[in-house]
Amino acid sequence: MTEPDIQGPTHFIRNRIRKELDAGQYQQIVTRFPPEPNGYLHLGHAKSIALNFSVAEAFGGHTNLRFDDTNPAKEEQRYIDAIKEDVRWLGYTWKHERHASDYFEQLYAWALHLIDHGLAYVDSQDAESIRAQRGTLTEPGVESPFRNRPSEESRDLFQRMRAGEFADGAHVLRAKIDMASGNINLRDPVIYRIRHLTHPRTGDQWCIYPSYDYAHGQSDAIEHITHSLCTLEFEDHRPLYEWLLAHLPVPSHPVQIEFSRLNLDFTVLSKRRLTRLVDEGHVSGWDDPRMPTLAGVRRRGFTPEAIRTFCAEIGVTKSDSIIPFGVLENALRNDLNERAPRTMAVLRPLKLVLTNFPEGETEWLDAAVHPQKPDMGTRRVAMTREIYIEADDFMEEAPKKFFRLKPGGEVRLRNAFIIRCDEVIKDTGGQVVELRCSLDPDTRSGQPGANRKVKGTIHWVSAVHSVQTEVRLYDRLFQVPDPAGDKAVDFTEHLNPESLVVIPDARIEPETAKARPGDSFQFERLGYFAADPDGTPERPVFNRAVTLRDTWAKIEGQGA
Ligand code: ATP
Ligand code: MG
Repeated sequence: MTEPDIQGPTHFIRNRIRKELDAGQYQQIVTRFPPEPNGYLHLGHAKSIALNFSVAEAFGGHTNLRFDDTNPAKEEQRYIDAIKEDVRWLGYTWKHERHASDYFEQLYAWALHLIDHGLAYVDSQDAESIRAQRGTLTEPGVESPFRNRPSEESRDLFQRMRAGEFADGAHVLRAKIDMASGNINLRDPVIYRIRHLTHPRTGDQWCIYPSYDYAHGQSDAIEHITHSLCTLEFEDHRPLYEWLLAHLPVPSHPVQIEFSRLNLDFTVLSKRRLTRLVDEGHVSGWDDPRMPTLAGVRRRGFTPEAIRTFCAEIGVTKSDSIIPFGVLENALRNDLNERAPRTMAVLRPLKLVLTNFPEGETEWLDAAVHPQKPDMGTRRVAMTREIYIEADDFMEEAPKKFFRLKPGGEVRLRNAFIIRCDEVIKDTGGQVVELRCSLDPDTRSGQPGANRKVKGTIHWVSAVHSVQTEVRLYDRLFQVPDPAGDKAVDFTEHLNPESLVVIPDARIEPETAKARPGDSFQFERLGYFAADPDGTPERPVFNRAVTLRDTWAKIEGQGA
């Protein structure tokens, strides 16, 4: 078997599959990504998606998207739709869309099979009693008084459970395995519960629902999944997965392989916690750009390419680790550095008048869309007598090392020419409100002084042509590296109050204002920004996806 190396890095799962293929154990590799439609996908899911799809792709196989919809209490159609959009956005195409609920009839028939073979029984105790009999890691469990009830009786009760004769909790169906097993998952696990709930797909057809463990392996077998890849917390469930496959007339025998989940610092990756952030209003929704959901990071301006590169870089192992969020941000910087068009934006405008530039005129300057990529072409930038510069690019009492604008000092205006600051205008409160400068016409592009060097270059926009825009500066949602780590403190206590700073009156180049939601740019000297769907042509909104440099690494390095 040869593999093209464009298909991603190798790891223990790939190596194992290659060996199995070499030994002729499989004709084709089939994997699945099995989300439960009870929330949006997050960056942890991206790791699982990338793994499942890339492994199948590498060996010419395919991947199914399987919704694990066995718990109608929390599942909704809108989550199914969002999950499909997110998987597509990441750049993966599934072969079949399947739902565990597609198999409810078959799963039910197999449950009867277990009953008829003395391998399952209806337990009529309440949930409390069943829990109390489970035992512990050191104590064996206690057998239910219903464990040895005749198969015929269990069959009859199970059929009547399905028919809706009983209230929630009146009975459950349990696999009959071993109450003394060292593995608690094998102590007669519950495989069906009565729940009078409407299911998003099967409506009111069913009032009994299979457990995750019972549905999962059998769904894998029906779809001829060869390798069922899941996270490490399912390792202890593998014996149950295998027991069910061994005792049912399933059409194929998948194997389960576990890998470690993705953890990111300054982030929570658990649907339960993310649901709380949304429900309690800590964020504006599942797609708030501070959320680690795929919908959130997409809106923030992250690219699918960066996320895929990140997943390949972090690899697949069996050991738990916490990956710095900065690793993902670096993948994003590298990607956007290659592709994002450059533009100028001023976040905190300070007016600057070029006293020797004619009033009422516009000079159109040529600027590169991407300085390292001539094939991306040029754009036209409007120069006028009045422009805006970044307020903190001027300093009245500047230290020696300050190479931006200061009284009497010179600076180059990016894409234009060199100017000198001749006069500083202040309001009655002593606040600087305007700078009067003169330009050196000799330093325009094409003129003899075009290459004259000054120490600083600053960005700017025309006061006349630029468009007012709202800019949203995002930062880490949490202030501490492991927000959920301390069980004594609720993770929401660690929210970063400065995770969103809104700048209502930034100015951008007019062409940039025409961006469509999702378009990304490098705002020169400031970072990478993406147009937000909240924006309109009259009032665009931009999200900062990532700064140009990793400021967090610096702060942590200082021991702050
Ligand atoms: P959460 O823990 O966020 O509630 P989940 O495991 O309940 O997630 P599912 O919809 O059941 O969510 O997950 C679908 C698949 O994604 C599963 O195979 C699961 O193992 C995998 N997955 C979930 N979280 C991560 C993660 N952090 N890293 C890698 N894979 C993950
Ligand atoms: Mg799960």
